[in-house]
Amino acid sequence: MTTPAFFPQDIIIKKRDGGVLTKDEIEFFARGVSDGKFADYQATALLMAIFWRGMTPQETAWLTDAMMRSGEVIDLRDVPGAKVDKHSTGGVGDKVSLILAPLAAACGLKVPMMSGRGLGHTGGTLDKLEAIPGFNVDLTVPEFRTILQKVGAAMIGQTPQVVPADKKLYSLRDVTGTVECIPLICASIMSKKLAEGIDSLVLDVKFGKGAFMKKKEDALKLARAMVDVGKAAGKPVWAQLTGMNQPLGRAAGHTTEVIESIECLKGRGPADLMEVTFALTGHMLVLGGAAKDAAGARRKMEAVIANGSALEKFRQMCVAQGGDPRVVDDYKILPTAKKLIEVKALAGAKGFVSEVDALKCGHAIMALGGGRASVKDAVDHAVGIADLIKIGEPVSAGTRLCTLHVNDDARGERAVAFILDAVKFSATAPQLEPLIQDLIQ
Ligand code: URA
Repeated sequence: MTTPAFFPQDIIIKKRDGGVLTKDEIEFFARGVSDGKFADYQATALLMAIFWRGMTPQETAWLTDAMMRSGEVIDLRDVPGAKVDKHSTGGVGDKVSLILAPLAAACGLKVPMMSGRGLGHTGGTLDKLEAIPGFNVDLTVPEFRTILQKVGAAMIGQTPQVVPADKKLYSLRDVTGTVECIPLICASIMSKKLAEGIDSLVLDVKFGKGAFMKKKEDALKLARAMVDVGKAAGKPVWAQLTGMNQPLGRAAGHTTEVIESIECLKGRGPADLMEVTFALTGHMLVLGGAAKDAAGARRKMEAVIANGSALEKFRQMCVAQGGDPRVVDDYKILPTAKKLIEVKALAGAKGFVSEVDALKCGHAIMALGGGRASVKDAVDHAVGIADLIKIGEPVSAGTRLCTLHVNDDARGERAVAFILDAVKFSATAPQLEPLIQDLIQ
């Protein structure tokens, strides 16, 4: 069947006036942004119309599918085993992928993980992995497939061939005020995930101060939209809703997060980080048929941490991707900052920690040089936050709030100011909100 010809302006007018686009119109748009039939100014006009008018679940599913098919769709059917991935909408201190991928692989799944880089106050998995000397995230698809088959987990960046339509659309959205739009976010994330060749997917949709979605109701809408798109594509998708008011774990940055991730695989992870990691990996094991239920998944995960096989998977992944596997036993081979600064509670502090603002902690990382304002910026892997105090912990004057890893004194001073502003106290112990708040299936 030949695709009927459309005029971009007719599609823009239809959406502007609240109409529902057809599959062919949406395909014409997704293809047109790459082949030039949709000029950039027309594409941005349509994006703004979608921003205001929204999309039906069916339109969102068609847009996701058309974007996915704008480039290479990786076919992993010849790789034996259940291929299950996890995607997080991002936050501060969220190093779950580094722990979850080897953990799930040690439990028998195949984890084909295509991740992103950090932008703004949120960190990116690829940047964290690159703190490990030699670790190569720019693999070709055949290399990705081979490592996945041999090790059980491979972690790479998006290749230019995968979902080129998203690259173009995201760059237009970024500069035209059309990023915060649930159907567009959903199509952007899900087109990339569905192009990875997965059988099923677990999503960690964050909400709160350090998250992309500040409000729980928006996170719920996004989670629902992504689960529905997965269903329309014939792939089971579960979405967990997780709070991101304070950083996850006690470390944020690159070296500091790699160390904390390895500690988790050695069975010494902080409680909140392990709670989220076990929950998400558990969903993957159930979806991939490696466990009957959450309790069975938990037993399996605890066993592979206790017997060292999850840590061994991490080591194998490092070897396969060119990274120095000695990192598992010797953290000193990671990039090291010149100076450590202990940030302490000021005189008058008394009671309990009532707030550790994740956004302000993210700004502290940016101030240190560990973040990225634009995609082209380099990051300093050595700087970051460690030993971060958590909400609910007791505090008095002089209590350590965190240790900053610093390479530049002036940057360090700015980061200290952000931390002192991020941590608040109360006389009585605060009511702790559950970290994991929902699961959409
Ligand atoms: N992450 C993506 O990949 N796309 C969006 O639109 C938003 C966050």
